[in-house]
Amino acid sequence: MTITAEHEKSVVDAVARDLYIGGRWQPAGGRRTFAVEDPATAETIAEVADATPDDARAALDAAVAMRAEWASHPPRERGEILRRAFERIVERQDDLALLMTLEMGKPIAESRTEIAYAAEFFRWFAEEAVRIEGRFAAAPNGQGRLLTMRQPVGPCYLVTPWNFPMAMGTRKIGPAVAAGCTMVIKPAQKTPLSMLALAQILEESGLPPGVLNVLTSSSSSAVSKPIMEDPRLRKVSFTGSTEVGRKLMAQASENLLRVSMELGGNAPFLVFDDADVDAAVEGAVIAKMRNVGEACTAANRFHVADRLSDEFAEKLARRLGAMPVGRGTEDGVEVGPLIDEDQRDKVSELVDDATHRGASVVVGGRRRDGRGYFYEPTVLTDVPDDARLLDEEIFGPVAPVATFDDEEAAVAAANDTEYGLVAYVYTSDLKRAMRVCEALDTGMVGLNQGMVSNPAAPFGGVKASGFGREGGREGIAEYLETKYVAMAM
Ligand code: NAP
Ligand code: MG
Repeated sequence: MTITAEHEKSVVDAVARDLYIGGRWQPAGGRRTFAVEDPATAETIAEVADATPDDARAALDAAVAMRAEWASHPPRERGEILRRAFERIVERQDDLALLMTLEMGKPIAESRTEIAYAAEFFRWFAEEAVRIEGRFAAAPNGQGRLLTMRQPVGPCYLVTPWNFPMAMGTRKIGPAVAAGCTMVIKPAQKTPLSMLALAQILEESGLPPGVLNVLTSSSSSAVSKPIMEDPRLRKVSFTGSTEVGRKLMAQASENLLRVSMELGGNAPFLVFDDADVDAAVEGAVIAKMRNVGEACTAANRFHVADRLSDEFAEKLARRLGAMPVGRGTEDGVEVGPLIDEDQRDKVSELVDDATHRGASVVVGGRRRDGRGYFYEPTVLTDVPDDARLLDEEIFGPVAPVATFDDEEAAVAAANDTEYGLVAYVYTSDLKRAMRVCEALDTGMVGLNQGMVSNPAAPFGGVKASGFGREGGREGIAEYLETKYVAMAM
């Protein structure tokens, strides 16, 4: 299917460019706007309202004003709103996918997958809204009863990154809506359009004014400050870098906010000598190349048993080298641009650092000149322990392959990082699989599979990858408080 320039323009034009506060679409207070760019062409595709600190206060005011009413809104109706939004997202999957590709760059097929994944969080939490339950018990001494109830935490501030512009939103908005919380959401500056489209869909689906408020902004710290300082805010949920997560946690300490932090990763991908190499290569392609490597769950480093490492690296290089690179709207493209020039510089620097320290380039290793921020899919072997890319989040299409001697060394290498989001393990030995899963310091493990994300499962990390879980039955708990009532009998 060829996508015309008119079609591109029409999906962008269909999106509101204003702030969404108290159920009204309105320009920013200072009437300022900022530009949204297509990373494949470096051209501006839209101008979006640039919120001021006063707009941020107004957004929180709206969320606070709606707090009590929304908390007592029938759970079934909260669920039905999410269910209707799920259906609308699925109906508009094609246009939403194109919009996402235009602002973020990922190939259209991947955008479609993200839209479906994003919608599933609404379906999942639509079903969870009516399963919020407390407990009733006799006190152990028989004198009195213990009652617990689960209640919404209150107004939330939700901050999302650019790499999954819609799914990172629905995975916070879904449980917040289901739990009966009101919220202010701030999408990343690079990708505000997907979130604005999502807000339009929620509005059409019957979400009452003030429950969700959207602030698009080019100065995230300036709009976040008045919200974070306001004692009426009760929770912050953040997905993004560990660096910014630390700053928000420091701010959250002032008012002792509930906090959820989905931060960076440095996922190891372990291939044991009893693994099915072809299956491991297939898993590696997904774990590395999904989202052009710009995923917190991206396999950042491959640790392969000595005996299999040459075969693995060669097969992986053949697969990655054959992936067509280009603008995400073009037919057959599997690798889109990186988000911006800074990100491409960083990837390029990390590859240069590794090669200067002795790593060999099997395939790729170069940026693409011309328009947009492209970098070739790359496989590196003989990567020495001190190469920076084994330590830092690459966020690009680069696969460093290192080797290990035995299981103990593999686990030690995997855990040798400040991060702890996800690890991938390929082995055909069941006992080893269980041993290694237990020994890994991560919140998630992909066992003989290259992707873990699933709305029905608890997504999240440990160590510098943060805490709190999104999705699954755990996801809604992040938005609920437990109240205990001691009853005399
Ligand atoms: P980022 O720079 O931390 O930004 C994330 C969000 O925080 C954006 O909305 C950003 O706004 C905002 N922000 C930045 N500085 C802020 C401040 N001082 N106060 C308040 N908000 C602030 O991360 P990114 O570059 O967008 O995304 C990449 C990172 O996200 C990677 O480290 C990746 O691993 C992580 N990530 C984690 C998960 C997970 O679930 N664990 C999922 C996806 C991504 P602006 O865009 O306006 O700067
Ligand atoms: Mg950033």
